[in-house]
Amino acid sequence: MEGDWSAPAATDGQVRHVQAPNPGPMTFRGTNTYLVGRGTVAVIDPGPDSAAHRAAILSALDPGERIATILVTHAHVDHSAGVPALKAATGAEVLAYGDATAGRSAFMAALAAAGGLDGGEGVDAGFAPDRCLADDETVAVGDLHLTALHTPGHMANHLSFALGDIVFTGDLVMGWSTSLVSPPDGDLGDFLRALDRLAARTGDRLYLPGHGDPVSDPAARVAELAAHRRARQAQIEAALAEGPGTAAALAARLYTDVPPALLPAATRNVLAHLLEMLRQNRAACDGPLSAATSFRAL
Ligand SMILES: [Zn+2]
Repeated sequence: MEGDWSAPAATDGQVRHVQAPNPGPMTFRGTNTYLVGRGTVAVIDPGPDSAAHRAAILSALDPGERIATILVTHAHVDHSAGVPALKAATGAEVLAYGDATAGRSAFMAALAAAGGLDGGEGVDAGFAPDRCLADDETVAVGDLHLTALHTPGHMANHLSFALGDIVFTGDLVMGWSTSLVSPPDGDLGDFLRALDRLAARTGDRLYLPGHGDPVSDPAARVAELAAHRRARQAQIEAALAEGPGTAAALAARLYTDVPPALLPAATRNVLAHLLEMLRQNRAACDGPLSAATSFRAL
């Protein structure tokens, strides 16, 4: 499908797409901002704080239409930094799961409090919604209804939004790439559980992700991503069985197919696997945890 995707028949014209001008190795062509509904409109992910993008969002409205609600999938700057200015321009209510640390497991909250793990890439630390949405809460947008699904894993406060059999999947499920899972915001156990949750929604027809093209075969993509993580987990376990290693050393060994510029992100993903093994008592490490900690198999 073309990058310049707009209002496909697949959404009965209820969804419009505006591409933010922030392309990059982690953002692909840029953040996808979606306008949902006609007349009374919700914006999903205002994107970066860009005057040009804000103008593009506002000019996508037809005469007489009004943005009443801003929904945020998660508090990463490429999704949420544009919130304050769009709110100021529209008076819309900002709804999200919570601030940048909301939704963390006790395990990750404790690691974050202890410090030393690094991570925190792109976190919008000052993000604060007007109102927090609970898991499974429904939001009315005109005569449409969106259901918030708490789907942590890429980030603890990550929501997906279901509109009938369409799901806005943010950075949890994308077609062009796997997701960064960088502790303590990223949590591999939560990520796999969120995939399982999406997999259980067997009637979904289309995913509209935070970056890249629509995903027209949701079940296959979710299964592929889950299988990819499990294969990576097996590789890391096998590597660790041969001897202790740091996340960076294991990433350099296992991610031979990624460009060097993406190796730091791969290292964060490996760390997420190692921490999940630690939580399950399948790995151990000595001393306080840091990004440079050496892990060993148990
Ligand atoms: Zn993100």
